[in-house]
Amino acid sequence: MSIFEYAPAPESRAIVDIKGSYGLFVNGEFTDGHGTPFKTVNPATEEVLAEVAEADASDVDAAVKAARKAYDKVWGPMPGRERAKYLYRIARILQERAREISVLETIDNGKPIKESRDVDVPTAAAFFFYYAGWADKLEHSGYGSTPLGVAGQVIPWNFPLLMLAWKIAPALACGNTVVLKPAETTPLTALLFAEICQQADLPPGVVNIITGAGATGETLVGHPGIDKVAFTGSTGVGKAIARTVAGSDKKITLELGGKAANIVFDDAPMDQAIEGIVNGIFFNQGHVCCAGSRLLVQESVADEVLERLKRRMSTLRLGDPLDKNTDVGAINSAAQLARIHELSDVGEAEGAGRWSPECELPANGFWFPPTVFTGVSQAHRIAREEIFGPVLSVLTFRTPSEAVEKANNTPYGLSAGIWTDKGSRILDIAGRLRAGVVWANTFNKFDPTSPFGGYKESGYGREGGRHGLAAYLKGADA
Ligand code: NAP
Ligand code: MG
Repeated sequence: MSIFEYAPAPESRAIVDIKGSYGLFVNGEFTDGHGTPFKTVNPATEEVLAEVAEADASDVDAAVKAARKAYDKVWGPMPGRERAKYLYRIARILQERAREISVLETIDNGKPIKESRDVDVPTAAAFFFYYAGWADKLEHSGYGSTPLGVAGQVIPWNFPLLMLAWKIAPALACGNTVVLKPAETTPLTALLFAEICQQADLPPGVVNIITGAGATGETLVGHPGIDKVAFTGSTGVGKAIARTVAGSDKKITLELGGKAANIVFDDAPMDQAIEGIVNGIFFNQGHVCCAGSRLLVQESVADEVLERLKRRMSTLRLGDPLDKNTDVGAINSAAQLARIHELSDVGEAEGAGRWSPECELPANGFWFPPTVFTGVSQAHRIAREEIFGPVLSVLTFRTPSEAVEKANNTPYGLSAGIWTDKGSRILDIAGRLRAGVVWANTFNKFDPTSPFGGYKESGYGREGGRHGLAAYLKGADA
């Protein structure tokens, strides 16, 4: 699909030892599950990678009990400065084994190796370093220093290790123990993380990893023995979990979907804006809750922006996720691919103009070409619903107020981007956007010191930064 020919530069997968089958990680040991084992595949090839245990209700119960015991006997009473040592140790091991983890993440998820290597794994380590620093300073957090107890955590497949780090690092720093369920299609880095917990000599039961599908997650969040539910995933499941938890004493944080506006004004630094649009929607195949999936471009520069964007999209390399030159990897699952096809077909039927660069898709695996829809109106489903794939909807605006009105016209409120030369305009627009995160002249930047989370149907609670501690401390209610 590129005007240039490149020699393939695949990263070797020899560094990873993928076992034939994996058990659950409960009380510091791998055990067989009592459910029906399932398979995880490489979405770029459809090759079966491993068989993974399914936790049934009795396994969930055992994991919660192990976490409770560890909380009561070891982790809760342990001074913060001692807990910090374990978190630092985990952070360093993540760095030491970064290459192995990146390759495994790419094989199980389909994301390009340059992203797992340069974003997912370093940011996961950074979260452990950052929250390790908080463990002995909680009295300065503003939320007290009393942990909640046992946290039940459920995460999605788009950033498997990074979402694990966002959940586990602050929970442990605050003195909680955890039971975490990774997504069915991407369990392998969470199970490698379990090995890392063993390597770090983390006391048994402090971290428990239970694999399975939605039913396992449902059992976990409904278990009476947990004190806190932390969920990242779709708005539909988030609402169901909120209903389950309502009326109980459990604390809850929800990080749900998004439909971010990326707003480009006519005075924007154009080359950077084009890169920002591309990064905003094609990073991680668009499987990003805060993806810049709605491009709002000022009418006077719309033609120029579109022309440049199409030219840039024509140079994106789609293919083998393990190749270091790959920009766009595989779609995570057949089910997700079907959803992207369905919504894209709806976009076409609704009358929007569909364009993709010439692009050869591999014969096996799940693939979708980078796609842009023009002439999109607010009423179109592709402007309102989360596609969660490499599909950009382009809308235009004339005035800053119209841009704000269109940007906020969504049930979501997770993130937004602003591209302009004027600092005063950035401050003005950012203040009027109902979005938890607003990036200015950049996009998709993640840092452990910065809180992340949404408004409206994007959920509630913050992850990252000092604010992220509130989700795991009792004093936050005060
Ligand atoms: P999902 O279906 O909601 O799944 C998320 C997790 O919940 C998975 O581990 C899933 O298990 C589990 N689950 C499914 N049904 C459940 C239930 N009834 N009770 C408890 N757990 C249940 O979402 P997804 O399709 O995997 O992920 C994509 C969505 O997540 C998108 O909408 C995206 O915007 C959102 N997301 C949000 C953020 C954020 O920070 N705000 C970050 C990433 C993703 P299985 O996968 O094994 O079925
Ligand atoms: Mg997989």
